[in-house]
Amino acid sequence: MRAMIQKRLRQLPSVDHLLGLEAVQELVDGFGRQPTVEALRETLDAVRGEVRGGGEVPDDPTLVQRASSRLTERLAPTLRPVINGTGVIIHTNLGRAPLSKRAREAINGLSRGYSSLEYDVDAGERGQRSSHVEPLVCELTGAESALVVNNNAGAVLLALTGLARGKGVVISRGQLVEIGGGFRVPDVMAQSGARLIEVGTTNRTHLYDYENALSENDDAAWILRAHHSNFRVVGFTSEPSLGELVEFGQEHGVPVMDDLGSGALIETRVFALAHEPTVQESVDAGAAVVCFSGDKLLGGPQAGIIVGKTRYVDALRTHPLARALRADKLCLVGLQETLLHYLRDEAVEEIPVWQMIALPLDAIAERAIKWQQMLQGAGAPVDVVDGRSTVGGGSLPGETLPTKLVALRSPHPDALARELRVADPPVVARIEADHVVLDPRTVLPEEEQALLMSLMSALARQSH
Ligand SMILES: *Cc1c(COP(=O)(O)O)cnc(C)c1O
Repeated sequence: MRAMIQKRLRQLPSVDHLLGLEAVQELVDGFGRQPTVEALRETLDAVRGEVRGGGEVPDDPTLVQRASSRLTERLAPTLRPVINGTGVIIHTNLGRAPLSKRAREAINGLSRGYSSLEYDVDAGERGQRSSHVEPLVCELTGAESALVVNNNAGAVLLALTGLARGKGVVISRGQLVEIGGGFRVPDVMAQSGARLIEVGTTNRTHLYDYENALSENDDAAWILRAHHSNFRVVGFTSEPSLGELVEFGQEHGVPVMDDLGSGALIETRVFALAHEPTVQESVDAGAAVVCFSGDKLLGGPQAGIIVGKTRYVDALRTHPLARALRADKLCLVGLQETLLHYLRDEAVEEIPVWQMIALPLDAIAERAIKWQQMLQGAGAPVDVVDGRSTVGGGSLPGETLPTKLVALRSPHPDALARELRVADPPVVARIEADHVVLDPRTVLPEEEQALLMSLMSALARQSH
């Protein structure tokens, strides 16, 4: 036994021998010489261990394949495009809002070289990073001032830190929400150094609750209203409107901060959805500060936007945290193009999130039937069934849009869904009633070809 193992170990090729193979040269070209040599060494070490345990010596192609897998695992990019077949339009795990063509092109163009980020081309002198986007935000929302930061969590943290640190902030117990990804209103409040003053109950809070809080807490300096975001309270519920809170606050000399979350600029009722509060409404209602995301219903890149009264927004602009949370040039240029769509009154036509929301059921059915026919042509058992898409991203909780789903019948739906996820590009589907289902609503038209190829190869692999 020992002699046989020794013999086998001697049969193992050297790293130099493997480096002479054409397939290994391809790895060197793709991944670099040093990483390839390391992967070959590690592979040979692993094989030596296997041989000592009684294993055979693999042939050269197998060794190269194993080294190649190691290299891919270590060096292949993991952040890459995926196809969203889930029907969740603003899918946080899948990067939220897909960007419009113009926004993508602008990001591409700007990333290539230098830019006018902080340079006034007219004057030939230093310019303002904020000058590209903030006037557009003001024009669209009617706000006096605007400030863009890295994301809405940062916007809320900055607003609370810069305006309410060391003071009391009154909020309804019905709004002490967790948004997901570790963002909890009470924790952000604690982090900012503001003191949380909770009032009312989970389902009902009245103006007199706020009134009692103000009379009992001398340090109460702000009222915070937070959007419920990803859940809905139904039944015996009540909460003062933002307008009522602002009016009440004015009577008592306490301004209102509104964490709007999604921050729609367009009325969602037009699309047979419930009403999602808009930024314009919060500004009109007189909120002193309003915070919202750039990559939820706004449909732009990840950003946090603060709008409101100039004296508050300017105080935040010069706060040290604002520098730490500032948005980068690629975000700003994508946001600029996204906002221009709204100003040109073409948001629903050009911004993918709104295109998807506005997509008529018959257009979805047409695509679903086309996919069905192509897949059936390849021998796959496919149905088109009724389903529901959701908006997601903490907006319009519980609201759905009617859709048509392409349902793949499979004895092993989990395995098929996995095959789709490991396809190139990966396809993320849903499993519903033991079928793997895909919602055409969230698949961009230019992804359709790749999706069908991935589907066919996954189905072919499954039938073996
Ligand atoms: C989504 C959301 C946030 C966090 O915004 P990000 O842009 O994800 O940082 C904060 N508050 C509310 C109400 C939200 O819906």
